[in-house]
Amino acid sequence: MTTPHYEIFALRYATNGERKRRENFIFTDAHETPMPIDYYVWAIRGEGRVIVLDTGFDPATAARRARPLTRSPAAALAEIGIAADQVETVVLSHMHYDHAGNFGLFPKARFHIQDAEMAYCTGRCMCHQVLRMPMEFDHVVDALRHVYSGRMEFHDGNGTIAPGVSVHLVGGHSGGLQVVRVPTQRGMVVLAADATHFWENIRGRSPFPILADLTRMMEGYRIVEALADGPDHIIPGHDPLVLRRFPAVPGTTDTVRLDLPPIA
Ligand SMILES: [Zn+2]
Ligand SMILES: [Zn+2]
Repeated sequence: MTTPHYEIFALRYATNGERKRRENFIFTDAHETPMPIDYYVWAIRGEGRVIVLDTGFDPATAARRARPLTRSPAAALAEIGIAADQVETVVLSHMHYDHAGNFGLFPKARFHIQDAEMAYCTGRCMCHQVLRMPMEFDHVVDALRHVYSGRMEFHDGNGTIAPGVSVHLVGGHSGGLQVVRVPTQRGMVVLAADATHFWENIRGRSPFPILADLTRMMEGYRIVEALADGPDHIIPGHDPLVLRRFPAVPGTTDTVRLDLPPIA
């Protein structure tokens, strides 16, 4: 039996060039230096399957939060030949607005989430404004709607999404954040989402300031490193360097291949 190999795409759909370093680390002394942040969804393709990780946010949320979209996540997927309305498998890393804001773009999908994340976004943690801030009530209602529609699939810890493709509970940044591990031609790649926003967070052991549990955030770095075949196999959730470090997909804008080795 051969190990399955998948292609992986990072698709940028929004960016914020105004962000400062102080906003990206709990402790930093370079407060006002610019440090832009990018927003991605990811697609995994192979073995006759398509899996989408996260759904991005919608125009209404973009306007409300002053985070302009450069394109719709569906348009980004279409550029690589994936019709969002035909996708059957969507993994939700966690319920923050920039990851779970477009259930409606995927009418045929089943959504994979951790038990702990659903409990987190509907439980007592949301009584606190500081923890509620990265959530959108309407997205949480959508998620709940899909629990009742039967299209939500729950995982508790490790889970299998497709042959060789697995999810792993990390938590830390949110109550039940999960990462996705994918076998590729260059080894095991981990789509870390917000387990590390930037490579600098994990490499410097310097967390992003949005946190549910700092200890689990720190332990999460070890989990992610153990799952990946090397430092270049860990893909941060929001790092503009991702677009520079991996080969662009010809004929696309803001989309790169993560299953190919990094450029230089
Ligand atoms: Zn997040
Ligand atoms: Zn995020």
